[in-house]
Amino acid sequence: MTDSVTIIGGGLAGCEAAWQCAEQGVPARLYEMRPARQTPAHTTDRLAEIVCSNSFKSDEVNTAPHLLKEELRRAKSLLIAVAEMTRVPAGAALAIDRERFAAEVTARIAAHPRITVIREEVTRIPREGVTVIATGPLTSDALAADIQRLAGAEQLYFYDAIAPVVDAETINYEVAFRAARYGKGGDDYLNCPLDKAQYEAFVDALLAAERVAPKEFESDKESYFEACLPIEVAARRGRETLRFGPMKPVGLRDPRTGQEPYAAVQLRQENLLADSYSLVGFQNSIKWGAQKALLRMIPGLERAEFLKLGQVHRNTYVNGPKLLTPTLQVKQEPRLFFAGQIAGVEGYVESLATGLAVGRWAAALAQGRPLLPVPRASAIGSLINYVARCENNDYQPVNITFALLPPLAEAEARQLRRKPERRARQIALALAAFEDWLHMTEAASVTATAGEAA
Ligand SMILES: Cc1cc2nc3c(=O)[nH]c(=O)nc-3n(C[C@H](O)[C@H](O)[C@H](O)COP(=O)(O)OP(=O)(O)OC[C@H]3O[C@@H](n4cnc5c(N)ncnc54)[C@H](O)[C@@H]3O)c2cc1C
Repeated sequence: MTDSVTIIGGGLAGCEAAWQCAEQGVPARLYEMRPARQTPAHTTDRLAEIVCSNSFKSDEVNTAPHLLKEELRRAKSLLIAVAEMTRVPAGAALAIDRERFAAEVTARIAAHPRITVIREEVTRIPREGVTVIATGPLTSDALAADIQRLAGAEQLYFYDAIAPVVDAETINYEVAFRAARYGKGGDDYLNCPLDKAQYEAFVDALLAAERVAPKEFESDKESYFEACLPIEVAARRGRETLRFGPMKPVGLRDPRTGQEPYAAVQLRQENLLADSYSLVGFQNSIKWGAQKALLRMIPGLERAEFLKLGQVHRNTYVNGPKLLTPTLQVKQEPRLFFAGQIAGVEGYVESLATGLAVGRWAAALAQGRPLLPVPRASAIGSLINYVARCENNDYQPVNITFALLPPLAEAEARQLRRKPERRARQIALALAAFEDWLHMTEAASVTATAGEAA
């Protein structure tokens, strides 16, 4: 009889891990502390709740985020299948209706005969049994303290941020216009154009706006992911920074002037009803009253009502290279796995991708099978390779990019002069290696399950 696996955290990584483990024939006990204890960012009791942007990033062929999703599709990821079922229009990106997504994942997990969901906060790492820690960037304090005991001083905290969401009915459509940046993938975004005077006034007000004081547990280090930089921090770097970042006008034409605006704020549809839009890249920690006044300076949002305002939160993760093996097991205690953002990746899809691999490995360990590392050539293997082997002293979680994949051999790279060709080749190699891993993993799992049944 196979032992069950304990998975702590019913977020993106934990749900995918539980599903994969159960699909390999091993029972999973999935602990989720909500609703009894909420995090500062979650608002519902659903599993796999998406806390900020509703985008699973680009699904355009020949991009690294697409490759990662393609591997997950081939590995029968539950969460990617549900994301596709609940997708909303977003150009070349895979964006989802967050309510339907979380409801569907919750229902599928609850209905799986080998998964038991336990609504309880885990305050200490279980002292025995195969265990996956997937409690995410907002791990509860008690468990974080126990992880700190395990990890030593390598545990770090820093900021992460939420973008504001606006009620679609309160947008001024005489000013805001539909268009996708670079004309890619239809007109799924709304754009609020600013001229030079409006942009300068906005930056002045932003620099003068009062910020929320960081909470005690957040105040040790002002360090952000570059991709998640609060707008007031970006503006402090230089008056033009926003125009080259979230307010860049490139590839847009304002139908009222026929010209590219001086700057633009992009709004992305939040759900299928299209009744709300998020301000892309507008995460900030401005006090709420001042923030509303500031955002209403944006042309098209003069009378906007905000369903959610920008916020900044803690991010918790372990020092992967010091603590973890290439199968995301704790070096000193291999029955313990880390998955998701707390393992040291960044992003929804990256987190669930590590959950997929760890769910399969945890099942293999429970069944006494060898653990097969995901090949380095694949996107998932590259992410995990970074987590376990990154040599930077200043270790920081990452999103998937081509920079993480192994470069092509020199001779091959010389032959393929154009970047798109080189990328296509890297993708072909990645998918071939990943398929091999899938076949080997699945063959081993079938043998183990048949052995048990006999
Ligand atoms: C404020 C904020 C904004 C973000 N914005 C984005 C974004 O726009 N795009 C993006 O790709 N990523 C974003 N991220 C990162 C995103 O949270 C993660 O990429 C992703 O949700 C991580 O998945 P996860 O499964 O590791 O953690 P989560 O999805 O957070 O799941 C962890 C789960 O564990 C539960 N839990 C915590 N402690 C315990 C405990 N002791 N016992 C039991 N259960 C527990 C939590 O309630 C939660 O349900 C953001 C993160 C934060 C905090």
